[in-house]
Amino acid sequence: MTNQKFTWLSSLSQWLVILFLAWCATITLYTVVFGNARSRAEQEKLLPPAEYDYHYEGILFVHRAPMDKMDCNPKRLACAKVWQDKPICSIWIASDDDLKRYGYDYDIVLRHELGHCNGWRH
Ligand SMILES: [Zn+2]
Repeated sequence: MTNQKFTWLSSLSQWLVILFLAWCATITLYTVVFGNARSRAEQEKLLPPAEYDYHYEGILFVHRAPMDKMDCNPKRLACAKVWQDKPICSIWIASDDDLKRYGYDYDIVLRHELGHCNGWRH
């Protein structure tokens, strides 16, 4: 009787270990494939107000680089520098790998920064 109970518990614990490992593998695979993907609705909260959400009319430079190599202070996924006396705007956006790691789409980040080029402050 004791042996049967032990066998049953052992079998249950094996199944729990297998389920736990399968769960870990699923989470790992999801993270590798999708990064920390944020929903479109969550990302769209970053979009500028409509009056700033349009293509920049001046000279636009868009630089891409790994996050630690970008000319943004403090370090972040993107930034925009607007010339005060010239129609020039320079945008830095992190590499696709960095954007994926933080769960952002390039087009959302670009529209956010274009809003800054168009005078948006927040
Ligand atoms: Zn901003």
